[in-house]
Amino acid sequence: MNISIIGSGYVGLVSGACFSELGNNVICVDNDTKKIANLKKGIIPIYEPGLEEMITLNMKKKRLIFTSDIKNAVASSEIIFIAVGTPPLDNGEADLTGIETVARNIAVNMKDYRLIVEKSTVPVETGQWVKHTIETYIKSKIKFDVASNPEFLREGQAINDFLHPDRIVIGVESKKAEALLISLYKPLNAPLVVTDIKSAELIKHASNSFLAAKISFINAVSRVCDKVGADVTEVARGMGLDKRIGASFLNAGIGYGGSCFPKDLDAFITISEKLGYDFELLKSVRRVNQKQKIAFQEKIKDSLWIIKDKTIGVLGISFKPDTDDIRNAPSMDIINALQKEGAILKVYDPQSMQKAKGQLGKIKFCKDPYEVCKGSDCLVILTEWDEFKGLDFLKVKKLLKRPLVIDGRNIYDPAVMKGLGFNYISVGRK
Ligand code: NAD
Repeated sequence: MNISIIGSGYVGLVSGACFSELGNNVICVDNDTKKIANLKKGIIPIYEPGLEEMITLNMKKKRLIFTSDIKNAVASSEIIFIAVGTPPLDNGEADLTGIETVARNIAVNMKDYRLIVEKSTVPVETGQWVKHTIETYIKSKIKFDVASNPEFLREGQAINDFLHPDRIVIGVESKKAEALLISLYKPLNAPLVVTDIKSAELIKHASNSFLAAKISFINAVSRVCDKVGADVTEVARGMGLDKRIGASFLNAGIGYGGSCFPKDLDAFITISEKLGYDFELLKSVRRVNQKQKIAFQEKIKDSLWIIKDKTIGVLGISFKPDTDDIRNAPSMDIINALQKEGAILKVYDPQSMQKAKGQLGKIKFCKDPYEVCKGSDCLVILTEWDEFKGLDFLKVKKLLKRPLVIDGRNIYDPAVMKGLGFNYISVGRK
């Protein structure tokens, strides 16, 4: 099929690469001309395992091209996906400016039937606004359909998630749109949920909010564990084996972050409020998440007493492993708070230091975890990269000023760490 993806960020690039890998002709569009110029040269703006190779291969096979020319993309593609960002406004609402701009651009350039698909995460009823916008700006009486096809990929495992999804959600209002999307996704052989557009939009917001709620739930349990000396990982294991609950998203830590959960939760709360429903449950999820970061900072303070002039070694910035994404990463708030209190920070992350450099104040970025440890008063773990799991702890102990490890991701075994002579503090564990 001939398809276009408007917006070449995490979702647009992964979707574009994967659709081309499946044999479709894909045009990836972005209004960031520098990004497009780099992509044309094979420079990928994000770190996502396997993405560079897949893009290079499909560019060579001439199934994947990059452009800023939306007109040509609309002319050549029967299916047009919108994958632009929907960042939060100050009031928590999703900023849909990008969606509206793209809808207008598609409308004025459409000469034949087109299926316009929302892939960006958008509040319920956005589909009808996209439809209304296209109807308003379209030049002649051309038939078109709007559909919702929310994306569930996880950064760090995005290609695998795209090619092997748990389900594909398709929100449509015509048989033609349904048939086109079913045919496009047929090679994936995944369970399909075909529904109306509003339900599809809600599936995305409800899913992300539910996952965020699971994280906040276990983080709240971790606080009780801390108080009574119980072990939250054991509690989570005992809960997770219950098939009705499931084991995933029950890792206590420093809270969720990233470009999706915080923003999607805010947007769901705000749209619900606008529609006349006070989503109290989600407000609590958000509050628990905020407090979890503060509780972790307290653990650092309780261990060091005075933060000012202490050297704190930090491992991990990205909001989760295997990505360079630092948007809304809890680490950023924690690092900033420690800096405000006068700490000297030494930081290492395998992928996200370049992005963090522009956003963090005076910080020493290190070449590896051992440089972080050298002369630090403690070692703080903020992201659970595999690289940090296999550290040489005899070396770490020698390099640190004192053997103090404060682990916000529970990646080490407390008994082993204590056996090695560390004062080891983690989340919700003895
Ligand atoms: P992103 O910021 O990485 O990429 C968005 C891209 O859209 C940017 O390259 C930007 O330049 C481009 N863009 C913005 N306005 C444009 C316009 N008018 N014309 C052309 N290009 C334009 O964002 P992302 O992480 O890819 O997310 C995109 C959407 O997908 C969001 O709604 C997000 O919530 C959703 N989503 C993201 C993820 C994820 O893990 N990142 C997962 C599922 C869904």
